[in-house]
Amino acid sequence: MAEGDRVVIVGSVALDSVETPLGRVEDALGGSAVYAGVAAHHYAPVSLVGVVGTDFPEAHLQMLAALEIDTEGVEVVEGETFRWRGRYDFDVNQAHTLATDLNVFEHFRPTLPNSHRDSEFVFLANIDPELQLSVLEQIDGAKLTFADTMNFWIENKREPLMEVLRQVDVIFINDAEARELCDTFSLIRAGNQLLELGPQVVVIKKGEHGALMFHPEQHFSVPSYPLPDVADPTGAGDSFAGGFIGSLAAEPRLDAAAFRRAAVRGSVVASFNVEDFSLNRLRALTAEDLRQRFREFRRFTYFD
Ligand code: AMP
Repeated sequence: MAEGDRVVIVGSVALDSVETPLGRVEDALGGSAVYAGVAAHHYAPVSLVGVVGTDFPEAHLQMLAALEIDTEGVEVVEGETFRWRGRYDFDVNQAHTLATDLNVFEHFRPTLPNSHRDSEFVFLANIDPELQLSVLEQIDGAKLTFADTMNFWIENKREPLMEVLRQVDVIFINDAEARELCDTFSLIRAGNQLLELGPQVVVIKKGEHGALMFHPEQHFSVPSYPLPDVADPTGAGDSFAGGFIGSLAAEPRLDAAAFRRAAVRGSVVASFNVEDFSLNRLRALTAEDLRQRFREFRRFTYFD
């Protein structure tokens, strides 16, 4: 198991049906918590908190167990697992949602097992901000808390989302959502505005164009890896966040340089994730694959 502080991740555990120009899958393992967890486990110990139905294949839980990802916090309840169906055309940044069947996820009330309540790093992946707030109430003494969100919550749960922003240390948000939330075309203005709403660090994800990190000591821009083919962009944002958080959990000091390395590791892991469907590439990565691509990032971003 990777060393480092424990990362607890709360979010969706899903069966995804996805079609892209390079192929399709039906009922494949997915979900924001799973993508983030498998990404983070390469750097630090991970526990997932979520819910699945009784139809959730045992093989997926066994796969997570084989990666030493703790699933004590994944409840199994009578009913069907959350399902998401989406399509990507040649614009890899744009997911077209065809169907969202919440199923057992509709009544999800995250409850952290007692053993998780003092975890050092807590990631509130994309769920209702009211539920994100309920998780924050259950934790005690975290070193850093992180949250992600989406346009649906910006439009429908703005007040609780503002409260999440006041309470978390780091917010991940994609470019279109940052513009919508801050009512500006400028990502720089949006990032600075978001910093004023509470978080210490704001990460604006720009899909195939990388990410911008707004940090009190230094703003930082990380590119995405120049991949010739993207098989399936699903989970890119979640795996970026997972790699980012896992990287920080493995750092002895949480200074600005640690945050820059985290942004690069987020981009490294996300680039592997999109090379194949579902978790196929992400779960099979070796430490050497990750180190090698990290070194490539250093090489192709360096100039004198
Ligand atoms: P990403 O591509 O990183 O934005 O996230 C893709 C993952 O988010 C997929 O595996 C879906 O199962 C999951 N997902 C899609 N819609 C929702 C939703 N409304 N709530 C939670 N998770 C979702």
